[in-house]
Amino acid sequence: MARRRQLYEGKAKILFEGPEPGTLVQYFKDDATAGNGAKKGIITGKGVLNNRISEHLMLRLHEIGVPTHFVRRLNMREQLIREVEIIPLEVVVRNVAAGSLSKRLGIPEGTRLPRSILEYYYKNDSLNDPMVAEEHITAFGWASTADMDDIVALALRINDFLTGLFLGVGITLVDFKLEFGRLWENEDMRLVLADEISPDNCRLWDAKTSEKMDKDRFRRDMGRVEEAYQEVARRLGILPEAGNSDMKGPEVMQ
Ligand code: UDP
Repeated sequence: MARRRQLYEGKAKILFEGPEPGTLVQYFKDDATAGNGAKKGIITGKGVLNNRISEHLMLRLHEIGVPTHFVRRLNMREQLIREVEIIPLEVVVRNVAAGSLSKRLGIPEGTRLPRSILEYYYKNDSLNDPMVAEEHITAFGWASTADMDDIVALALRINDFLTGLFLGVGITLVDFKLEFGRLWENEDMRLVLADEISPDNCRLWDAKTSEKMDKDRFRRDMGRVEEAYQEVARRLGILPEAGNSDMKGPEVMQ
């Protein structure tokens, strides 16, 4: 099959031109990076798992009325998405202290936050994705106040839903990162959830043992990274019970 035209290559995904105007193909790589690319590696099978996990979560969110860019999964590593104009923000939602919040504010990892906290980071690799306030976002025109109202409402709704979904399979949703895009339909614009939701951009801890089941295993050289991603997929009911060897053949992934 003729290879589609590549439009963009990021750290963990590649975007190709889609089959119809207004669509793109999102390809999930096994490449892993941390610290804005300072640490690089490969997590074998990660792309396949993230494609499936993100598909599953986007579909569940669609069912409760959250608009997303997801159209359908095409194969093991690719999904068809709507082309959107990405808002240059990383929207982080936190339920439990971890990572940069713990480091900056001295709050021990694992402390349950008094309420969910939203943070915004300006998506700009050369600036190291600096944290920004809503004031910067609206003043510099990255998003309007109306956009921000929608983003806050969507992010909190997504958080409530995903927190329950993960808790139902014995996983604490500690924090996660979202990206939103503008979808134009004739003259109308609406904001939709874009990018991916996967153990690459969520902190997921076993609800009983607090064992980490996400990219922190890679960031912190904890080992058993693939296994952790697989376990998340298995608990979500995406992989059959059988375990690690499931990743070898395409038949089990269909
Ligand atoms: N995150 C992400 N991409 C980034 C930065 C953070 O997906 O560029 C996610 C990360 O996986 C975590 C949450 O956002 O689930 C909060 O990350 P934090 O600010 O604690 O930063 P980190 O510890 O990853 O530097």
